[in-house]
Amino acid sequence: MDMKAGLNYLVQWVYPPRCLLCGHTGQKQGHEAVDLCGHCQQRLPFNETACLSCALPLPRGIGPEAICGQCQNKPPAFDASFSLFCYEQPVVWLVQQLKFNDRLAHARLLGNMLAQRVEACVDRPQCIIPVPLFNKRLRQRGFNQSVELAKPVAKKTGLPLELSLAIRTRPTESQTGLDAKQRRKNIKGAFKTIRHVPYRHVAIIDDVVTTGSTVNELARVLKKSGVNRVDVWSIARVV
Ligand SMILES: [Zn+2]
Ligand SMILES: [Zn+2]
Repeated sequence: MDMKAGLNYLVQWVYPPRCLLCGHTGQKQGHEAVDLCGHCQQRLPFNETACLSCALPLPRGIGPEAICGQCQNKPPAFDASFSLFCYEQPVVWLVQQLKFNDRLAHARLLGNMLAQRVEACVDRPQCIIPVPLFNKRLRQRGFNQSVELAKPVAKKTGLPLELSLAIRTRPTESQTGLDAKQRRKNIKGAFKTIRHVPYRHVAIIDDVVTTGSTVNELARVLKKSGVNRVDVWSIARVV
């Protein structure tokens, strides 16, 4: 047993993994402790059949290479998306507790699960870009949930986490309650790149994709700065 594995073993002996959803004993995957029991894991709302372009959940049996009608009509600025879950309970609770109640353990769990899925992706991006928060919001919250979700992904995939490339230039009104068109208008011009962009292929990480207007705007700005391909990886997609 190497030093890190030994340390992990010790930590797990002192603090055995606990399921964040039901409080029962968590799982061990290799040397890693997972704060989720097998029973709760099986019941999570995995987004299994989805549009390859925008990750919108689609009816089962539609085929693995499907593109939804909206993306066929008007392709988004990004090239491909992957959303781990449909935004339903208990994922709603996990995400909201992370954002509004500082439950960073939820980011570790969800980020690790996202990492497992994207680890196998054939076409690896050159870096990961979490959706930036406006500075004032970041100060209020104390952390950016997308960065916290991206950390385990960066660690597991070995992809660099790029935090100094793009910023949010202004506060945006909450997108809650706005329709798709209002959301696009609300977010327009909200991001900019602040230095030379040395990448051709990047992956954006976001917590929840609702209509896709936020990640679309960030992807548009990145492409204007010379990026050729933008993938979007998110925890959950609103149905
Ligand atoms: Zn459980
Ligand atoms: Zn689509």
